[in-house]
Amino acid sequence: MAVPKRKTSPARRDKRRSHHALKAANYQECTNCGELKLPHHVCGSCGHYNGMEIIEVGL
Ligand SMILES: [Zn+2]
Repeated sequence: MAVPKRKTSPARRDKRRSHHALKAANYQECTNCGELKLPHHVCGSCGHYNGMEIIEVGL
């Protein structure tokens, strides 16, 4: 039977788990309105993507 030879140290265990809740908010400024938006997504505030208005944003 394959059994771990050594107990995982608390530091090693916690380092392994440390990635779980990590989520980098990779926001970038919209080139049209300057609002923060996600890359490769249509801007949520002005509806622009790649210099064109893709969706109408009702005010
Ligand atoms: Zn925008």
